[in-house]
Amino acid sequence: MTIQVFQADTFHLLAPYAFEREQITRYGAEFVVADCLTDDELIAQAGNAEIILLAWRGVVTPRAMDALPRLRLIVRWGVGFDQIDAVAATQRGIAVANAPSYASEEVAEQAIALMMAAGRRVAWFHDRMRRDEWPSAQTNKIHRIKGRTLALIGAGRIAAATGWRARGLGMNVIAYDRYLSAEAIQHLGFEPVSFEDALSRGDYVSVHVPLNPETRHLIDAQALARMQPGAFLINTSRGGVIDQAALTDALAHGRIAGAGLDVYETEPLPAGDPMRRLEHVTLTPHMAAYSEESWHGLRVEMCDTVRQWIEGSWATSVVNPQVRSRLRPRQG
Ligand code: NAD
Repeated sequence: MTIQVFQADTFHLLAPYAFEREQITRYGAEFVVADCLTDDELIAQAGNAEIILLAWRGVVTPRAMDALPRLRLIVRWGVGFDQIDAVAATQRGIAVANAPSYASEEVAEQAIALMMAAGRRVAWFHDRMRRDEWPSAQTNKIHRIKGRTLALIGAGRIAAATGWRARGLGMNVIAYDRYLSAEAIQHLGFEPVSFEDALSRGDYVSVHVPLNPETRHLIDAQALARMQPGAFLINTSRGGVIDQAALTDALAHGRIAGAGLDVYETEPLPAGDPMRRLEHVTLTPHMAAYSEESWHGLRVEMCDTVRQWIEGSWATSVVNPQVRSRLRPRQG
């Protein structure tokens, strides 16, 4: 039987998925595009799927995994795969993969853009100019960025790309990563530090860890209290890594100097959310990964993962490799 690749939910920017259809058909598989809103809809439509491609909705629940016996691989259109319960997938013999590297440069560029916008108060001054004001330069305290310390929380691909850019700006870069050795962090060119030291020494603290049960609210009220009053928090990873209520409170009371955020606990960030009104907060709508170049790279990376799977029932971007010995067999 022909292998079916099932696009579970739609990125409207990519519809009608002509590039993917051409590639996947060339590999000899069938490509079906759907836009499932719930796991019930997925279960009703994806009965023949061996591979599910997931844009962003949390529809591939453990219940759906049980109800779709042909399913062997779930691929997330992006780096973060927090929409998928990878532990439940592993237990069921299903591989989970992502697109790990398509946007490291873009997200690093965004982290630096948010850092500069916050530190040089670009967004604050821009807002005033829009209101026909001409505020004096000294309305806000601004410090030279050269010579300041950037603290990276997580030292993976995006953090490294951010840290290298920051070094180019003349910053000192320190990094905390729970799973990387001090030598590995030194090898990247950064000073390895503890979580507490990263928070207390960083003039800018930039968050780059995946969201999972261990990292949820890693930056909570206690962590925020460790930061310097003049420090800025930058988050381009996932909203859930920060306790957003605690951050809102810290910013509202001036306990830190400001923040630059691309991601939020609830997305889209609700209209009227207090974060939208706070001064010294620069906000972007979870768009850090986007550029014309990265978007093309993502499509190529996704298709290549599908090709690898069709050819060898495996892909280099599988994030739960422990599943290999218990993988569901392909159904004929
Ligand atoms: P990566 O896997 O290369 O790096 C993540 C690093 O975090 C790893 O080095 C890991 O050891 C470390 N880590 C994991 N748990 C930790 C913990 N508890 N404490 C400290 N360090 C920990 O991933 P990446 O490519 O650098 O991406 C990082 C995250 O950025 C992704 O998981 C994704 O959620 C997010 N992201 C966001 C966007 C966006 O559009 N805003 C785009 C791409 C990625």
